[in-house]
Amino acid sequence: MTEVIHILGAGLSGLAAATILARSGKEVHVHEIREDSGARFDGDFQGIENWTSDLDFFEELREWGFDIDEFKSDSFGIIDLIHPDDEISHPKTEGVAFRVVERGTEAHTIDQGFKRMALESGVNIHYKVKKPAEDCQIVAAGPRESSAVAFGEIFETSHKNLVAFQLNDKLAPGAYSYMIIIDGVGLICTCLWRKQRKSGRYLNETIAWYEENYELDRKPIKRVGGKGDFGLPSKYVHDGRYYVGEAGGLQDFMWGFGMRYAITSGVLAAKAILGECEYEKEVRRRLVPLVKASAINRFLMNRVGNRGFKMVANQWMRDQKRKGDGLKFMQWLYKPGILRRSLWPLVRIGMLRKKELPDGRIVHRMPFRGSLKRDLWEQSPRANEIGEQWKSKQREGGNLSFTESDA
Ligand SMILES: Cc1cc2nc3c(=O)[nH]c(=O)nc-3n(C[C@H](O)[C@H](O)[C@H](O)COP(=O)(O)OP(=O)(O)OC[C@H]3O[C@@H](n4cnc5c(N)ncnc54)[C@H](O)[C@@H]3O)c2cc1C
Repeated sequence: MTEVIHILGAGLSGLAAATILARSGKEVHVHEIREDSGARFDGDFQGIENWTSDLDFFEELREWGFDIDEFKSDSFGIIDLIHPDDEISHPKTEGVAFRVVERGTEAHTIDQGFKRMALESGVNIHYKVKKPAEDCQIVAAGPRESSAVAFGEIFETSHKNLVAFQLNDKLAPGAYSYMIIIDGVGLICTCLWRKQRKSGRYLNETIAWYEENYELDRKPIKRVGGKGDFGLPSKYVHDGRYYVGEAGGLQDFMWGFGMRYAITSGVLAAKAILGECEYEKEVRRRLVPLVKASAINRFLMNRVGNRGFKMVANQWMRDQKRKGDGLKFMQWLYKPGILRRSLWPLVRIGMLRKKELPDGRIVHRMPFRGSLKRDLWEQSPRANEIGEQWKSKQREGGNLSFTESDA
């Protein structure tokens, strides 16, 4: 009799697992609470990183049997790195540092690409359904709680393709903002690693900053966003269920680059069910050291403000000058190393809080930190105008897919 596998969540991790299992002859059912894959996102641009392994991620995808032409992607080897004092420098590499993909329900998004590959492999996807996690072998339901949030605006622009990454503790408390422009569509996003009230002002002020420093000719389309859940569970297989992607805490504490971990963990869970590896062991060997290194970096970042961010930006550029490759610094950030490893006990006590989840799993998670005194400031007149501009766009039907209350 054919073995039947049930998976909770038709996002990247769930669809990756489903495709591999169906191609090996299993009957696979994926149960998704939303109306479509990618519906959690709404035309958001995201970057798939290429620095946590020596192997190019698209090579890895090909080896696993995924067709990278099923979705649109744009490779980048250079970015604008914006320091907290507004200096702009350019980390660069000869190869591919990361690829920008679109998330959402449009045909060219990575979510729909993975959905098509799953359907072509014979996977049954059930949308708009509720299924208890206990009835599933793989839990791929994404983040549960918020440790951090991001707010962004998508706009039309005449500016050429570009990725800018800004370390700035005022515009993005504890974190960073970014601007991605692909083929006439831009996204400006600010990440909040400290919880704020009236968070719209952070996005308005960030947009004002980018407008002042780049010729954007910006015409707002919609506002997007989402949350990230950062935590380390004590087990990745619990009561016979495999926890993958963000549902399994496989997320990058430092910058939030969780897509690669999501797909990789989905593949590993499928291979474990097929008897080709041991999931718990493989996740601990391949992914947990990266997640831990990112948590240690996050712990350090939580301790510094703009002065520390400036030191990081300078260090990055010095490292590039010495080694002739800007990607080496990013690779180094994720290497466990003795110094970083020695900080781990401090990180566990100082940053993570032990919590028992409703399904009995124990997780050491990073709570959403509170705001600081320095997070209170008045919007500039231009940021106010940008806020008003967005309100009038909303009255015309501009979509807002994530708000403070969703966090
Ligand atoms: C604003 C933002 C920007 C980001 N930028 C980047 C980036 O640049 N690079 C990067 O690598 N990562 C980025 N991430 C993180 C990345 O999006 C996630 O880590 C990744 O999508 C996780 O994949 P997943 O399969 O675990 O979850 P998802 O892709 O979210 O899939 C989970 C699925 O489960 C469904 N679901 C939830 N609950 C249930 C339930 N009870 N029953 C059934 N289905 C359920 C959801 O609807 C969803 O479809 C970003 C995240 C946000 C919010």
